[in-house]
Amino acid sequence: KAKDAGRDVIKFFDNSIQQEIAQRHVIESALRRAESLNQFVLYYQPQTDANGRLVGTEALIRWFKEDNKMVSPGEFIPVAEQSGLIEMIGSWVINAACLQIVAWEAAGIPPEIKVAVNVSAHQFGHVNFVSELLMSLSITGADPSRLKIELTESAILQDIEVAKEKILRLKAAGIRFSLDDFGTGYSSLSYLKQLPVDQLKIDQSFVRDITEDESDAAIVQAILAICVSLDIEAIAEGVETEEQLQFLLKHGCRRFQGYFFGKPMPACELEELFFTDLKQKIIS
Ligand code: C2E
Ligand code: MG
Ligand code: MG
Ligand code: MG
Repeated sequence: KAKDAGRDVIKFFDNSIQQEIAQRHVIESALRRAESLNQFVLYYQPQTDANGRLVGTEALIRWFKEDNKMVSPGEFIPVAEQSGLIEMIGSWVINAACLQIVAWEAAGIPPEIKVAVNVSAHQFGHVNFVSELLMSLSITGADPSRLKIELTESAILQDIEVAKEKILRLKAAGIRFSLDDFGTGYSSLSYLKQLPVDQLKIDQSFVRDITEDESDAAIVQAILAICVSLDIEAIAEGVETEEQLQFLLKHGCRRFQGYFFGKPMPACELEELFFTDLKQKIIS
């Protein structure tokens, strides 16, 4: 009996693993055609100061399939990473962001409004990452100082020395760096000290329960204190409520991103947001 039950369990796992593999294959082959079918779009989420004034934006990829159904990056980026398709997607993202930077410069959006782009560990680890990025900037004519790269700790930990060298080369060209999802990885202070990053993004998992969960509150306060002592800008992600904002403000956070201020939106909407906001500022 026990043996039978054991076999059933194994069979159950087999089936679900098989299903998962099949599911991956479906996503992977659809993903392979997505670029040529123009199914990728970059959305932009506002980053603000405490008054909700736009200070930057994060580019977040969206994939609209044939049926116009949107697949979230949380679903397809991991598949892309595992299948090697991330190189193609990553290049598309960088190129699209560069073109947007050029368009926004022409539209009169000031250079202080940086465009942050997510770069996966695999993409950043590629030997040609630096040269290809610089190439995209020069081909599109995008101003490197308007670009910010968001890296996760996993991208850096593969080889800190190499990562540091790449970051320094790109910083020399004027590109800024932000450490994404901070607090969820190693968050080792010794490597943080060595890394020439400009910004730390406090992961939304700590922000979510910041007003109820004492340990989350303590972690966020600790991260904010580290930022002060290392002279790195802090930005909180996933800010959804006034209460979260007040807590963060009270502990010295000055940059925010989250649904409270705005969801990721098409480029034209972000542009509109900037100019209506600006108009109100001029009138008042
Ligand atoms: P991330 O870089 O940490 O981006 C933040 C995610 O939080 C985004 O999800 C954003 O829509 C979501 N978010 C923003 N504000 C709030 C909020 O107030 N509440 C909640 N619950 N969520 C909020 P999204 O767009 O689904 O992206 C998920 C992840 O996929 C990103 O996490 C990033 O790791 C990855 N990703 C997105 N675009 C790209 C890309 O172009 N390239 C690469 N390599 N990865 C990307
Ligand atoms: Mg990010
Ligand atoms: Mg993040
Ligand atoms: Mg995140």
